[in-house]
Amino acid sequence: MTLSSRRGFIKCISLAIPGIHLFSFASAREAFAPGADHLVRERPSTVSAAQKKLGIALVGLGKYSTEQLAPSLLETKRCRLAGIVTGSPEKAASWKEKYGIPDTHVYNYENFDSIKDNPDVDIVYVVLPNAMHAEYSIRAARAGKHVICEKPMAVTVEECEEMIAASREAGRLLSIGYRLHFEPHNLAMAEFGQNRTFGEVKKIIAKDGMDIEPNVWRLNKKLAGGGPLMDVGIYCVQAALYTSGELPIAITAKEGRKTDLARFKEVEQSMKWTMEFPSGLVAECETSYAQEMNLLRAEAEEGWFQLNPAYEYSGIQGKAIDGPLEFPQVRQQVLQMDDFANCVMNNKKSKVPGEMGLRDVKILQAIYDAARTGQKIRLSEFSARHKKQNFLH
Ligand code: NAD
Repeated sequence: MTLSSRRGFIKCISLAIPGIHLFSFASAREAFAPGADHLVRERPSTVSAAQKKLGIALVGLGKYSTEQLAPSLLETKRCRLAGIVTGSPEKAASWKEKYGIPDTHVYNYENFDSIKDNPDVDIVYVVLPNAMHAEYSIRAARAGKHVICEKPMAVTVEECEEMIAASREAGRLLSIGYRLHFEPHNLAMAEFGQNRTFGEVKKIIAKDGMDIEPNVWRLNKKLAGGGPLMDVGIYCVQAALYTSGELPIAITAKEGRKTDLARFKEVEQSMKWTMEFPSGLVAECETSYAQEMNLLRAEAEEGWFQLNPAYEYSGIQGKAIDGPLEFPQVRQQVLQMDDFANCVMNNKKSKVPGEMGLRDVKILQAIYDAARTGQKIRLSEFSARHKKQNFLH
C-alpha cells in the first residue's frame, strides 16, 4: 500500500475505531467544517439546544483574555462570557460596556470568593501569571466552580496536586487551556504518529520560541516559575507526547548561553533538551525568548510529516513527504471552551484535564533538573505511574 493510499485508508478506518475517532483525519475534517456542529458530533449531548449556555468568568484581563478568549466567547455555542475578575476599575468599566456585563458580575481579587453566590457563573477561567494559577484555581473550586486554568498549570508539582485535590473535593471539573488538542493539523500529527501512518516515528523535532519584550512578568522568576520553557517550551513537550503517543523515560538538557543579561537576569534565555521514549524514539526540542521558532516535525521509517508554524492561534501549515496537509483553520479557543462546557453539561472528564497539566509540569521540572545538574534524568518511576494514561483523551 502506498503512503497516500494508507493515509486514505486510515481516514476511513479511524472512524470505526473507538477511542481514536476524535483524532482521525476524517472526523477532524468533518468536525471542523464551517458551520458543522462539531461538538454534537464529537460528544452526543444530553442537553437540548434550548438549554442555556454556561457562564464563564475570566480571571485576569490581560492580552490573552482580551485578544483571544473574550472574542472567542462571542462565537461559542455552549458557553458565554458571564463575569470578569480584575484589579483594574478602568478595565472593569470598558469590559462591562463592551460585553454587557452587569455590576453584580464584576469581581476584584479581594472579593473574588463571593463568586460562589453567583449562579450565572458555572466556570472560572484563570488567565493570570503562572504563579497565581494555583491560588485562583483552588479558590474557584472552593467557590463551587468548574475551572479552566491556563498553561503551564502551575509553577510546582505540589501546586498542581493541590489544584487537582481541590477540584476533586469540590466535585468540580478541572481543565487546562491546551487549545492545540482542538486544532486539526495537530490532531493529524497525533494520528499519523500514533497510527504509524508513515511507519514507526524515530525522531521528533519540536521548537517554539519568540523574541520577548523586556520588563514583563514572564521574565520574573517568581511570577513565571521559569523562562521560555514554562511558557512556550511546554508546547514542544506536549507535541512530542501526542505525536509519539509515549511518555519520556529520560531527559538531558542544556541551557543556552545568555546574550542579553539585562533581559534574562532571572530566567533562562533559551533551552535545548532531548527526551528519550520507550520505543527508542528521540525528541530534540528547543525553546527561546530571543528567537522566533515554530516547528513540529516527525521523521518516520517511511517518510516525514511536519507543521511550520505549528503552535500559532491561526495559520498553521502542514506538509508531509507525499504532499500538503490541508485542514481548515479553526478558532481553537472556541472549540476548547465549548468542549469543556459540554464536559460540564455531561459530567465528563475533559480530554485536557488537570492530570495532564501535572504530568507536563513534572516533565518541565525534570528538564530544569537535567540542565542544572548536567545529568541525564531518568523518569522510569514517573512513566510507570502514568503508564495507563492516554495522552490525547
Ligand atoms: P498578560 O500579562 O497580558 O496578562 C496578565 C493579567 O494578569 C493582566 O491582566 C494583569 O493585570 C493580571 N495580573 C494580576 N496580578 C498580577 C501580577 N501580580 N503581576 C502581573 N500581572 C498580574 O499575560 P497573558 O499573555 O494574558 O498570559 C496570562 C496567562 O495565560 C499565562 O499563564 C499564560 O501562560 C497564558 N497564556 C496562554 C496562551 C495560550 O495560547 N493558551 C496564550 C497566552 C497566554
